[in-house]
Amino acid sequence: MAIFTRDFNAFDFSDPVRAAEAIKQQAIAFGADSVGIGSIDRWEGVDLQTDPRQIMPECKSVIGMVFRLERGSIRAIEEGTFFNHYSTVWGALNRLYIPLTVNNLARFIEDQGYEAVPYGSQNDWSALDESGKLKPDYSRPARKGQAMPDVEVDLRIAAYLCGLGEIGYSGRFLSPLFGPRVMIGIMLTELELAADPVYDGPKLCNRCMACVRACPGGCISAGKTVKVRVAGHELEWAAVDRKKCMDATRGIVRTETPQDDPYVHGEPKTGRGDWSPFCNKPDYVAYDAVPAICGGRGCVRACMISLESRGVLENKFKQEFRRRPEWTVDWSQGQGSSHGKR
Ligand code: SF4
Ligand code: SF4
Repeated sequence: MAIFTRDFNAFDFSDPVRAAEAIKQQAIAFGADSVGIGSIDRWEGVDLQTDPRQIMPECKSVIGMVFRLERGSIRAIEEGTFFNHYSTVWGALNRLYIPLTVNNLARFIEDQGYEAVPYGSQNDWSALDESGKLKPDYSRPARKGQAMPDVEVDLRIAAYLCGLGEIGYSGRFLSPLFGPRVMIGIMLTELELAADPVYDGPKLCNRCMACVRACPGGCISAGKTVKVRVAGHELEWAAVDRKKCMDATRGIVRTETPQDDPYVHGEPKTGRGDWSPFCNKPDYVAYDAVPAICGGRGCVRACMISLESRGVLENKFKQEFRRRPEWTVDWSQGQGSSHGKR
């Protein structure tokens, strides 16, 4: 009985078009829902801290992959009965499914003799804070003129430059297949691959502002925006208050000066939001995911409902997503009581 090993140099990657096709087929087979390729010149002029070439100076191509969150995984949070699942599935995508897929794809490329850097959607060591600013006294450049470790490639911009969709007003990436219920993984490679056009499909975000109205934390600004110019295209989305978002995803409303930990012995120092049915801080769930109690009420659910109602998404369902009025919890009496007409 012979030992089985991987088949090195099984593919001829000297033709960028055929190599791109083989890689895309593998990416889908490994678990990506859509895959596109951007040539590295599209990153010309981006901030040093987000430039893929700071990770791989010889990078020629970026492979972008979109991974969906199943609509059914948002169902139980929409019904208000099973929050753990939504959080766990996001965590599993971040910590397990995307890293496995991008790693498998990197091994496929390296089998043919080209280096590939798998880059999942988790970057805990970033030198940038949630608002994209350098963290003070966090790290130093290892070489003069280099970015500070760790570089954080903007995944939304990467997915846009790989032709996979657009960035919505909410700041979330929108896929023409699934709208906002996606996460992104990328790979950097020194292999030259045929690039796809930057996304030029039907416009997805129509500035309906449903995300702004439904965001429980009031995190998505209705007027203040962020503008970025990449590959000759001007992108604009709302300024999003990430600190407020972190609170909202934990179901709390701050009523005092922000502190690092808004809880004391599991009890919030601050108010509970009417979008959270939990009396105490829920335990963290699998894969280190955050509680995600808001369930993307604005930037995922309201946006998805808006996009689906306009028929612009390719993943179509027989029944609409929102089947009952939205619920809220009244915490004014201490124990909380449910609202939401049946
Ligand atoms: S909810 Fe409307 S405005 Fe907000 S990102 Fe989605 S489509 Fe754009
Ligand atoms: S995750 Fe929730 S709180 Fe944060 S921006 Fe989206 S809807 Fe708002």
